[in-house]
Amino acid sequence: MSLHGETVTLNGVRKSFGDLTAVDGVSFKIPAGSFFSLLGPSGCGKSTTLRMIAGFERPDEGDILIGDRSVVTLPASRRPTAMVFQNYALFPHMTVGQNVAYGLNVRRLKKDDVRARVREVLERVDMTAFEDTPVPSLSGGQQQRVALARAIAVEPQVILFDEPLSNLDVALRQQTRKELKTLQNDIGLTSLYVTHDQEEAMAMSDQVAVMRAGRVVQIGKPEILYMEPETAFVASFLGGANILVDAAHSVKLTGVEPGKGRVLSVRAEDVVLRNDGHVALVVGRQFLGHVTELDVELDGIPLRVRVPGMAPDSTEIRIAVEAFRSVPNDL
Ligand code: ATP
Repeated sequence: MSLHGETVTLNGVRKSFGDLTAVDGVSFKIPAGSFFSLLGPSGCGKSTTLRMIAGFERPDEGDILIGDRSVVTLPASRRPTAMVFQNYALFPHMTVGQNVAYGLNVRRLKKDDVRARVREVLERVDMTAFEDTPVPSLSGGQQQRVALARAIAVEPQVILFDEPLSNLDVALRQQTRKELKTLQNDIGLTSLYVTHDQEEAMAMSDQVAVMRAGRVVQIGKPEILYMEPETAFVASFLGGANILVDAAHSVKLTGVEPGKGRVLSVRAEDVVLRNDGHVALVVGRQFLGHVTELDVELDGIPLRVRVPGMAPDSTEIRIAVEAFRSVPNDL
């Protein structure tokens, strides 16, 4: 069995459903073997983009290449892609081995070859001992491994993940995303991951494309998107930053006027407590262990503040802004 990732290239891909433009001229290139996420709010066109790469939808315009081969005219079954769905879509009445063998039987591989391939992929995901176990008795993390084993069994060059972790609880979600990332690293296939969870996208991805209303608004490493968002939308969606829309408020907090068509973006951790700062009213607090998030109001305008450890237990605090960015206002 040979596994290798290929580049995925989208050039000006468009897709409409009736009057609705779901994907509006999307272009990007995913390097071979890397982990790339599409991140954006519900309805922005992430799944449609993924489904066009898988071959479940056909673009109205544009091209999709895997390696240097255009795949838009190929049916899903002939593309070098495999998909891992939300909830994994494993067959509950089958064993682990039967689930992994399914796609191979559909492709009419010889029985002995199927058996050998199933063993090999189960070994890769460290699930050999579970070959004869019925799927319902597995943990969420183990099901994730089986779903991945089933996907890689057909020797794809690209794995497509459609919000695979969205129905898990928070703790399991964090654990399985670590496992998934490690497995992906070991296996080395190009991975495209769709999510609306910015933390998940940042934690797992080599690169993230932020989508909005059918378009990609910014592509980059998670660190760059977080530190250097190019628009107010990216700053607020990906970084949860405060967007100062009121000019007088901006001047008071930063000493700077945003300028025409622009706003100031201030990350919650860049609002600090300072004795000579502005008085703000605390209207909500969330202790998260390593940080406390405070919802405050300054002159009636809401701001989010993130302070290390515990925050003072008072209804008023004094705050100052340590860092901010001027960004175009696309909200
Ligand atoms: P979500 O996270 O909610 O799945 P998404 O970003 O993946 O959102 P898409 O599922 O790609 O978004 O949908 C983009 C837009 O296209 C939405 O307005 C959706 O209602 C519409 N859409 C998607 N598939 C179809 C279809 N088969 N027929 C009609 N409209 C569709």
